[in-house]
Amino acid sequence: MIYPIVVYGHPILKKVAEEIDKDFPGLNQLISDLFETMYFSEGLGLAAPQIGKSIRIFVIDGKPAAEDEPSLADFKKAFINPHITERSGELVPMNEGCLSIPNLREEVLRESHVRINYYDENWQFHDEVFEGYKARIIQHEYDHLDGILFPDRLTPLRRRLLKGKLTAISKGNFEADYRTILPGQKIK
Ligand SMILES: [Zn+2]
Repeated sequence: MIYPIVVYGHPILKKVAEEIDKDFPGLNQLISDLFETMYFSEGLGLAAPQIGKSIRIFVIDGKPAAEDEPSLADFKKAFINPHITERSGELVPMNEGCLSIPNLREEVLRESHVRINYYDENWQFHDEVFEGYKARIIQHEYDHLDGILFPDRLTPLRRRLLKGKLTAISKGNFEADYRTILPGQKIK
């Protein structure tokens, strides 16, 4: 099932999401819906709060970006109850976008390396280090689980300059090829 995407300004995107346990009802279906929604909306990653579920899961498939970043070709994963235990390396600037903030891209500084532990869709535990573009996507999606969106990572000045655009987006003044839920609209 393809879910609508919750848009910037909706309070669920600011919540710290909850961990789940192994027998969370409908977990497999939810993971496959996250992938399906992500592919439909043409994102590289999608976190459960973005479909209105305040739980700690996100999915990533870097394949669409593999032409520019060959390392992403087989980077397809589900992360359940993830914990970033270490961020290291240089702070690297990179342009980021977010399905919850349609048509806005900004340069965001993030660490080049992360160490993260998580359960996968088969409830296997992993403790891994990622770098570069992978570390970038992971940190962006992980932020969603803590109620953090990329504008929160910008300088106060940059954020102030974007305020008008962000307000417009939260009011639905954007074009997107996927269905959305605006702030004030109910999540079904
Ligand atoms: Zn995002």
